[in-house]
Amino acid sequence: MHLKTLTLRGFKSFASATTLSFEPGVTCVVGPNGSGKSNVVDALAWVMGEQGAKTLRGGKMEDVIFAGTSGRPPLGRAEVSLTIDNADGALPIEYSEVTITRTLFRSGGSEYAINGSSCRLLDIQDLLSDSGLGREMHVIVGQGQLDQVLRATPEERRGFIEEAAGVLKHRKRKEKALRK
Ligand code: ATP
Ligand code: MG
Repeated sequence: MHLKTLTLRGFKSFASATTLSFEPGVTCVVGPNGSGKSNVVDALAWVMGEQGAKTLRGGKMEDVIFAGTSGRPPLGRAEVSLTIDNADGALPIEYSEVTITRTLFRSGGSEYAINGSSCRLLDIQDLLSDSGLGREMHVIVGQGQLDQVLRATPEERRGFIEEAAGVLKHRKRKEKALRK
């Protein structure tokens, strides 16, 4: 499994549709300060279901939508698509290529899709959670996060280990069921 392409439309500083292609192996994104490197990483986290505006370096979720510049008006929606090569079947879905898409409208509405069919956020989380990708997986290690691991309480540390072992999903489901 590897990431193939990431397309940003109206996401943060990427007003025009922009596609990044990744080959298997290591990819480096380089550029001057403020050119949008971290925005690319934010887009990856966002399309995989990130719900925390703060994690995305904003105050509210709407801040991911292109806010306009002196020469270009703000946009009404942000959309990010991530295409994953699933030839090895790492994702539990019968497609050798999977595209997940997330859209947010300035009016507040939001949409998720898998291979063009609309779905729930939960479907995306379920699809990604056993593969080592996805929300709360430490796939994206932000600045300051190493600190967090070093300073973790024993309980938090157990959370990291459960997540790595793939049991966090089941514990969360159990907790949810017990709350009902
Ligand atoms: P550095 O090297 O300093 O880490 P970077 O390449 O990571 O820089 P980013 O943080 O990705 O840069 O991009 C910051 C730029 O994105 C800023 O110029 C900011 O104005 C712009 N930006 C962020 N959100 C939006 C938005 N919603 N609409 C338009 N521009 C945005
Ligand atoms: Mg940066």
